[in-house]
Amino acid sequence: MDLTYERKNVLKEIDEKEREAVFAYAEGYKKFLDGGKTEREAVAETVLLAEKKGFKSYELGQKIVPGDKLYYNNRGKSLFLIKAGKKELLSEGLRILVAHVDSPRLDLKQVPLYEKSDIAYLKTHYYGGIKKYQWLTVPLALHGVIVKKDGSVIDVKVGEKEDDPIFYVTDLLPHLSQEQNEKKVATAFNPEKLNIIVGALPLPEEEKDAVKKSVLSILSKLYGICEEDFLSAEIEAVPALKARDVGFDRTLVASYGHDDRVCAYPEITATLDTDTDRTVLTILADKEEIGSEGNTGMQCDLIADLIDCIAASYGLSSAVLRARSKCLSADVTAAYDPSYSDAFEEKNVAYMGKGVAMNKFTGARGKSGSNDASAEYVGFLRGIFAGDDVIWQTGELGRVDLGGGGTVAKYLANRNIDTVDLGVPVLSMHAPYELIAKADLYQAHKAFSAFVK
Ligand code: MN
Ligand code: MN
Repeated sequence: MDLTYERKNVLKEIDEKEREAVFAYAEGYKKFLDGGKTEREAVAETVLLAEKKGFKSYELGQKIVPGDKLYYNNRGKSLFLIKAGKKELLSEGLRILVAHVDSPRLDLKQVPLYEKSDIAYLKTHYYGGIKKYQWLTVPLALHGVIVKKDGSVIDVKVGEKEDDPIFYVTDLLPHLSQEQNEKKVATAFNPEKLNIIVGALPLPEEEKDAVKKSVLSILSKLYGICEEDFLSAEIEAVPALKARDVGFDRTLVASYGHDDRVCAYPEITATLDTDTDRTVLTILADKEEIGSEGNTGMQCDLIADLIDCIAASYGLSSAVLRARSKCLSADVTAAYDPSYSDAFEEKNVAYMGKGVAMNKFTGARGKSGSNDASAEYVGFLRGIFAGDDVIWQTGELGRVDLGGGGTVAKYLANRNIDTVDLGVPVLSMHAPYELIAKADLYQAHKAFSAFVK
């Protein structure tokens, strides 16, 4: 037995065969990233993957029998996969995996379109915690839906194909930034300036708002919509960037939305590909970045309702089933950044490339707002991971009292389910283009697979 604890570098530790698996696995992940940049797209993409593995759509209340492979698509924005196992094993509870598929971005306002000095813009209200300046001068794509009065839904996705136009938020040139440079970063970038340029061609016959009207006429031709239709639209501006390998050795991946697709994807593959007699409930949640509110977020009663449905189908008490269930709240954590080492406490932060990271607790100012998992549950998981040679590490978001953050863990734990955060360390979290290590991604897949086995 080792007397001291040291984190292990995954790529140093694993054999040639696993190294190949690490790189091969990341290829599927990059496709998933590029195909599902919004919560709606990630849900749709996962439904396709699940259907290929024989999963069928589930109606709330429907009886579940052992062997069933089901998905419950909640309003197209959150998804529940149910793999119904043997009754004997259900006495040990459910194995629950939950990641989120919403990511920070710029959402269009409900009356977004205007023009100023012959340039047409869309106004935005940012979603989630962003550093506003990071979203300036980045190529943007528009994704989402417009719902018309008659209920018809128009899908919008523009800026992703090679020959698509992209969209753009300006920044002030350095030559004229003397006043801006004197301001604090927190206040220097007014969110009401996060306006997206969408056109500059005036309609010749129009006196007033000639560019805005020309954009509207293009939108009318493309989508059959008028300005009022934005009232019932959800359009998200996301970086028009594809996931790319980083580094001469290609060990890292940069992408939009690693938080939290880098946990959602291994959660999905672990659920779809693991042979198990256990009952597995795998969740892709929405609204995590804004507090898990609403009927697609993890504070919604739907999770309890689905557990009730499973319990009733097996003739068990829902309360007993929840009490015996175990959950991994699969969310990213901050990776140690050597360029900003002051922000971290080096003994307790997660390191990129040293495996999937467990945050026993999150929160801020004295663990406030955190699910602080029990030593017993962490000990239980250590046993599971050791059994399957999962390389994992412990992590804490950053230096005490520097900031903090939360995850959905507490919403599961509040329902009397043992829960801990386990996910992939990320550099530049919440930036338009984030960074992860393929080695950690693969260890997440191994960890989730071991958990549901
Ligand atoms: Mn997250
Ligand atoms: Mn986040």
